[in-house]
Amino acid sequence: MDKPRCPIDGAPMHRDERPVTLSYRGLEETVILPGWYCSECGESVHNGEEMKISDRALRNLKAKDSGVFLPETIRAIRTHLKLSQVRASELIGGGPRSFQKYESGEIAPSQAICRMLYLLAKHPEMIQELQALHSFSDISDEELFAAG
Ligand SMILES: [Zn+2]
Repeated sequence: MDKPRCPIDGAPMHRDERPVTLSYRGLEETVILPGWYCSECGESVHNGEEMKISDRALRNLKAKDSGVFLPETIRAIRTHLKLSQVRASELIGGGPRSFQKYESGEIAPSQAICRMLYLLAKHPEMIQELQALHSFSDISDEELFAAG
């Protein structure tokens, strides 16, 4: 592959890995970002795979800012519960393919989903209660508070 030239000044670019600091609403995260870097001005060019590194860091900053679980934590809880992404979406909610989206960082989970996951992580046996659940509308109070 030919070495690209800098889009700013036309100088040759070189493969390198450099620390890049991303910031979001006062939070910062530094990642080591591979790419083509200009020897003159420091301009850089990145392919799709390389951009994913900075995209992931930015999503993590957004998750930290809104106080929700990070994608890798959601994956860890789901696998701890021995659920597929599809089954987790069915049992815990958030819409079809919600867990695939949370774990890829495509969308952030709601506070309600995070609180549910927090409780399930602490009490994984409670997933059985959700497995047995069909509809909230036909549960009687007696059934709801039985053996509570
Ligand atoms: Zn340059």
